[in-house]
Amino acid sequence: MEQKWVAYRCKACGKLMLPKHDRCLQCKGEEFEEVELPQEGTLITWTKLYFPPEGIEMPPLTLGIAKFGEVHVLGQVMTDDPKTGMRVKPVWGHLRKLRGRDIEGFKFQPL
Ligand SMILES: [Zn+2]
Repeated sequence: MEQKWVAYRCKACGKLMLPKHDRCLQCKGEEFEEVELPQEGTLITWTKLYFPPEGIEMPPLTLGIAKFGEVHVLGQVMTDDPKTGMRVKPVWGHLRKLRGRDIEGFKFQPL
């Protein structure tokens, strides 16, 4: 299955969200359209988790917020040396193991 790098725009108020929520965080609207996001973003801020959640194999985990177009996205950053303002791209991959199950999702790879 091909993973789409998209956010979800509320049809009622226009708020853009990622991840998707059942109802719009702003107006409680329930209808969304997919909006393709840029393949390049900017790391806005980051932190390192030395006691990450269950299923993360190799602490510390670098977690960051990157801006892609008009949306801010939270995700794992694939470097031990993150820098605010660095350019990143979304890549699909393994995030963690949860109760024996592999969880996949987008992570940010420095360019
Ligand atoms: Zn809305």
